[in-house]
Amino acid sequence: MESSKRVLISECNMLIGKEVVLKGWVKKIRQLGKVGFLLLRDRTGLLQCVLEQEQNQVKIETESVVQVTGILVKTDKTANGVELQVSEILVLAEADLLPFEINKKKLNVGLDHLLNHRVLSLRHEQINAIFTIQSVFVKGFTDFLMQEGFTRIFTPKIVSQGAEGGANVFTFNYFDKSAYLAQSPQFYKQMMVGAGFERVFEIAPVYRAEEHNSSRHLNEYISLDVEMGFIENVEEVMEMEKRVLQYVFQYVKERCQKQLDVLQVDIPVLNEIPKMTLAEAQAILKETYQKDSPEGDLNTEGEKCIGNYVKDKYGSDFVFITNYPRATRPMYTMPNKENPELTDSFDLLYKGSEITSGGQRIHRKGELIASFREKGLNPNEFKAYIDSFAYAIPPHGGFGIGLERIIMKFLNLGNIREASAFPRDCDRLIP
Ligand code: ATP
Repeated sequence: MESSKRVLISECNMLIGKEVVLKGWVKKIRQLGKVGFLLLRDRTGLLQCVLEQEQNQVKIETESVVQVTGILVKTDKTANGVELQVSEILVLAEADLLPFEINKKKLNVGLDHLLNHRVLSLRHEQINAIFTIQSVFVKGFTDFLMQEGFTRIFTPKIVSQGAEGGANVFTFNYFDKSAYLAQSPQFYKQMMVGAGFERVFEIAPVYRAEEHNSSRHLNEYISLDVEMGFIENVEEVMEMEKRVLQYVFQYVKERCQKQLDVLQVDIPVLNEIPKMTLAEAQAILKETYQKDSPEGDLNTEGEKCIGNYVKDKYGSDFVFITNYPRATRPMYTMPNKENPELTDSFDLLYKGSEITSGGQRIHRKGELIASFREKGLNPNEFKAYIDSFAYAIPPHGGFGIGLERIIMKFLNLGNIREASAFPRDCDRLIP
C-alpha cells in the first residue's frame, strides 16, 4: 500500500482497479458460505466490501468504525457498480450492543427512544436526511440575503429584558443581577439596522419558557431573523420573505433531491402567496367552519382551517395573515395609518401552522415611548433600546422564522423535535 490517504465512497467508482483505504461505519455484515459481505457507510454513501479468508475471521459489531484496505472492482451486483475486495480490516472504534436495530429502512421506534440515543438514530438515512436538508436550507437563506445586501449579525443571548413581552422568558442569576435568555433578537436587529447596516439577518438560538409540551414548540429553537431599513411599507417586508422562501425552496430542491426522495417529499414551486387580514380570516372561520377565534389572534385549530381554506381556494400552502390589532402585537409594532387600532403586521402560515411573525416597526423615539406606555410598560426599563432611536433609525421592518418549525412543515414531520438534533423541551435536557 503506497499511501493510506482516505478515499470517500462517492469517489470509488472512479478508482476501479486501484488499491484504496476507506473509513466508515459498518452498516451490516452478512455471511454467504465462506465469504463475508460488509456494507460500509461514510458521509457520502454505502459500499459493499467483500471479506475472504482471514479477513472474514475478524469479529465486528454493526455500527463499529472501521478502516478497510483493498482493491476496487467493477460489479453489476451493487447500485454504484463497484465493490471492495478487502485485504485488511482494522476496527478503529467498537460499537456496544445497540439499543435498537438501526439498519431497517423504516425505523419502528418511539420518538423518545430515538432522541435518547440521538447519535445512533441520527445515522439512519431518513433522520440524517432531515439535517442535511436543514443545513442546505440555511445556506440558501444566507446566500439569498447576502446577495440582497444583508449583513449577517450576531447579537447577545444574555439580555436584561425580554423583547416579546409575556411570561415565557427564562430568568437566571448573572453575577449580582437577574438576567434573561433572549426570546428573540428583536431589539438588537433593529439597532443594527440603525447602526448603518440597513439590512441585517441573524441565525441563532432563542429561548422560550413555554410550559406546555406541544408538538410544535421547543424551549430553545433557531430563529431565522431578518430586519430591513428604508422600507416604504410592510408589503416590502412580506415581499422579501416570499422571495427568500422561493429561493430557498428551489435551492434545496436542486441540491437535496436524494434526501427529499428518501423522505418522500415533493417540493412544489412557490408562487404568489395569498394575503388576508386577520378580520377576514376570523370571518371565514366563523362562516365556513363555525369556529370562534380568540380576541385578535388565531388559535391552532383556526390556523389549520385557514390552511385548508387557502389550499382549496388558491392551491397555496402559504397565506399571509395581516393587520393584527395593537392589543395582540408587541409594543414596537407600527400602528396602521388608516386604522390605528390595527398594526402593519403579519403572520405567515404554512400548511396550516404559523411559521413567522413580522411587521413594520415604530422608528420614531417619541412614538415608541408612547407605545410602551400604552402597553403599561415602563420605558425606563428599556432605556438602552429606546435611546438608540435618538440617533435616528430609518423606517424599517422584518420578520422571524422558526427554523425547526419551517423544516417540520417543509418535510411533513409530525413533531418539531424531529427537526432538532438535540431538542430542548420541558422534560428534555439531555442528550
Ligand atoms: P406560536 O403562536 O406558534 O406559539 P409565537 O406567536 O409565540 O408562536 P413569535 O414570537 O411570533 O411566535 O415567533 C416567531 C416564530 O418563531 C413563530 O412563527 C415560529 O415559527 C417560531 N416559534 C415561536 N415560538 C416557538 C417555539 N416555542 N418553538 C419553536 N418555534 C417557535
